[in-house]
Amino acid sequence: MSKQDYYELLGVSRQATDADIKASYRKKAFKFHPDRNPGDHEAEEKFKSVSEAYAVLSDSRKRSIYDQFGHEGLQGAGGGYHGFNNADDIFSSFGDIFEDFFGFGSRGGGGRSRVRRGRDLQVETQVDFLDACFGTKKDVSVAHNVACETCDGTGAKVGTSPENCSYCHGRGQVQMNQGFFTISTTCPQCQGQGRVIREKCPDCHGRGIVNKKRKLSVKVPAGVSNGMRLLMQNEGEIGENGGPPGDLYVYIGVKPHDEFEREGDHILSEIQVPFPTLSLGCELDVNTIDGKSKLKIKAGTQSGAVLKLKHKGVANVRSGRRGDHLILVQAVTPTKLSTKQKKLMEELSKELGVPCSSKVKQEKRGFWEKFTDE
Ligand SMILES: [Zn+2]
Ligand SMILES: [Zn+2]
Repeated sequence: MSKQDYYELLGVSRQATDADIKASYRKKAFKFHPDRNPGDHEAEEKFKSVSEAYAVLSDSRKRSIYDQFGHEGLQGAGGGYHGFNNADDIFSSFGDIFEDFFGFGSRGGGGRSRVRRGRDLQVETQVDFLDACFGTKKDVSVAHNVACETCDGTGAKVGTSPENCSYCHGRGQVQMNQGFFTISTTCPQCQGQGRVIREKCPDCHGRGIVNKKRKLSVKVPAGVSNGMRLLMQNEGEIGENGGPPGDLYVYIGVKPHDEFEREGDHILSEIQVPFPTLSLGCELDVNTIDGKSKLKIKAGTQSGAVLKLKHKGVANVRSGRRGDHLILVQAVTPTKLSTKQKKLMEELSKELGVPCSSKVKQEKRGFWEKFTDE
């Protein structure tokens, strides 16, 4: 099933401002809010999808990725972008919006301030020129913080557990009297944690967190170009105190190719043809990103002409429509002529009426000028 366009879901135009998007989301979220539609599965699904659309379009980085790639650019673990699993994820992500009109954010409340979303991470991956044209899968290795398995994230050596700090009695804060005032400060013994670890876990040195490398498979869509980035949702750093994880941005570097260059969705290359061949015309085998292809050279083709192989370019990452392959034709002047060739050439020159001393026509005309003529 193809996913619905995010702009359509929110009922806004592609040029919509952040304020338009927010206003439209509020309206839709209010309508489909689970508390207003208890037990209505359809409304809940709607609520999730408009929230997913809002999560992407309200974030300028994600929105620009979506504008370039569509749904293809947004990925999650195991393939497609799946947005939110449940309503609580939505509240912890943009509770402030709901607070405005419901007077509460995360349902049940309680310590919301300490719930923090994990950091976003970024990683770069290099793909081959042709893989960028046709799409590929790349394994990327991401270093991120995870809960230490040895101690289950407590930071305490196996068989022991963190103890309540005796200095602050687990409050993390201590009160000091200073004249008439009572000042609260962070407990110097536990640094505000409220707990102390007597024997530290040797694997994480008491932090409860270890930095681990993890392999992820990234689906690189056909038509990506150098410098584009993809979003892997929820693949960033783990959140704090049950907060949602951050996202992972994958930067795509495209390696250069020996023969081809890219100009948007067009492929550019150059061929060198002896000038008598250009004069007489011929059909040549040329390399394209699909392999060999026939190129017809009309009799009388000039050096510097740009010939076009239609739809032999790169598939547009959004529309899938292929660009063209543009071939710059360069005439090659034969050198090291044999006696016979030299004689023939002299005869030809005389026949054409081009003596060596005659004035030649001078003009300035570049490759790109001709290219834009098309
Ligand atoms: Zn540990
Ligand atoms: Zn303490």
